[in-house]
Amino acid sequence: MPKRQIRYAVVGLGHIAQVAVLPAFGNARRNSKLAALVSGDSLKRKALSKKYEVENAWSYEQYDECLETVDAVYIALPNSLHCEYAVRAARAGVHVLVEKPMALTEEECERMTHAARDAGVKLMVAYRLHFERANLEAGEVARSGRIGEPRLFNSTFCTPVVPGNIRVKRDAGGGVLYDIGIYCINAARALFRDEPVEVRATAAGTLDEVEESVSALLRFPNDRVASFTASFGAAKVSEYRLAGTKGDLAVEPAYDYARPLKHRLTLDGEMRERRFAKRDQFAPELLYFSDCVLQNGTPEPGGDEGLADVRVIRALYRSAATGQPVALEPFAKRARPSLEQEIRRPPVEKPEVIHAAAPSGG
Ligand code: NDP
Repeated sequence: MPKRQIRYAVVGLGHIAQVAVLPAFGNARRNSKLAALVSGDSLKRKALSKKYEVENAWSYEQYDECLETVDAVYIALPNSLHCEYAVRAARAGVHVLVEKPMALTEEECERMTHAARDAGVKLMVAYRLHFERANLEAGEVARSGRIGEPRLFNSTFCTPVVPGNIRVKRDAGGGVLYDIGIYCINAARALFRDEPVEVRATAAGTLDEVEESVSALLRFPNDRVASFTASFGAAKVSEYRLAGTKGDLAVEPAYDYARPLKHRLTLDGEMRERRFAKRDQFAPELLYFSDCVLQNGTPEPGGDEGLADVRVIRALYRSAATGQPVALEPFAKRARPSLEQEIRRPPVEKPEVIHAAAPSGG
C-alpha cells in the first residue's frame, strides 16, 4: 500500500474530466487518490462516484463542505471559473491543480498565486506536455544546439468546435487563443527558453460568440520569431516546426493526448523520423503534483508559467482588436520544461461519457 496518498476532488465532470482526468487516477495510485467529485449534474454525481468508487460527490453549492474533506482539487471547469474555484480552495488550505488556461486575465492569475502563497498551498497549471517525452525532447533538441541556434517557430493548431461548446461562449471564457493558441505560445516559449517582447495578431471569422481563427506573430529577443494560426474552423491539425541555423525539427502531431506524437528531424539534409507512443498524459501531472505536496516541492509549471501565457494571450487579443503591435514588459522566468520531468504511464481506455461531448460534438 502507498505510504500516503493525496486525496483529490475533481471539480467539473465535463469531457476532459471524464475521458482523461478520472481514468488517470488508476495510473497514479502511488501517491494520489480520487476522493471526491463536484458536479452540478446529479446523474453524473451518482454514476461516476459508483464507477470510480468515490465516497463523496458534491454539488457546487456544497463546494466549501467538500474542501474540508480533501487535500487537493483538480479544477476542470470552464475557464471563467478557474480563478474563483482555485482561490476558494486555496483559502480553505487545499492545494490547487487547475486546467489551462490558468485564468482569463493577468489579475486573476495574480489573485490565484497570492491566495496559494498566503495559504501556504501548492498551485500548478495542468500543462500535460511538460511531462510528455516528444515535447520535452523537442526542447532538448533546441537546447542542445543540434539544429544550431533556433531562429523560427511556426505552428498550426486547428480543431473543429461546434456552436454551444464552452470554447465558443464568451461568459465561459471561450476564445481560440485561450483554448488552443495557448499550446503554441507555451511551446514557442519553451523551445526558445525565453519570453516574447512584442506580439501582433489578426482574427478572422466568428464561431458562435468568439473568433473562429487567430494568426499571431511573437517577436522574441535576438530577432527570433514565432508565428502560429489557431482555428476552430478547420479540420484537426496539430503541428509545429522549429527551424535552426543548422537544421530543423518538425513535430506532428504535436499537442495531442489521444494519438502517438511524431518527430521529423532534418540535419545536413538528412531526415529522421521518430514516433512517440501514446501515453496517459494526465496521470503524470497527478503524480508530480502529489509529490510536490508530499515533499514540499515547488510545482513547475506553477502560477508564473500560467501567467506567462495569459499575458501573451491578452496582448494578442489587444493587437487583434486594434490592428497594432503590442509591446510586452520584460518577464522573468527561469525554469523551463526539461527531460527530467518526463513521467511515463500507459494509455487509458476511453470510457463512455455521461452528459458531456468533445469540442467537435462527438
Ligand atoms: P466541458 O464543457 O466538457 O466541461 C466543463 C464542465 O464544467 C461541465 O461539464 C460542467 O460539469 C462544469 N460547469 C460548471 N459550470 C458550468 C457552466 N456555467 N457552463 C458550462 N459548464 C459548467 O469542457 P472541457 O472538459 O472540454 O474543458 C474544461 C476545462 O479543461 C477547460 O478549462 C479546458 O481549457 C480544459 N481542457 C484541457 C485539456 C487538456 O488537454 N489539458 C483538454 C480539454 C479541455 P458538471 O456538469 O459536472 O457540473
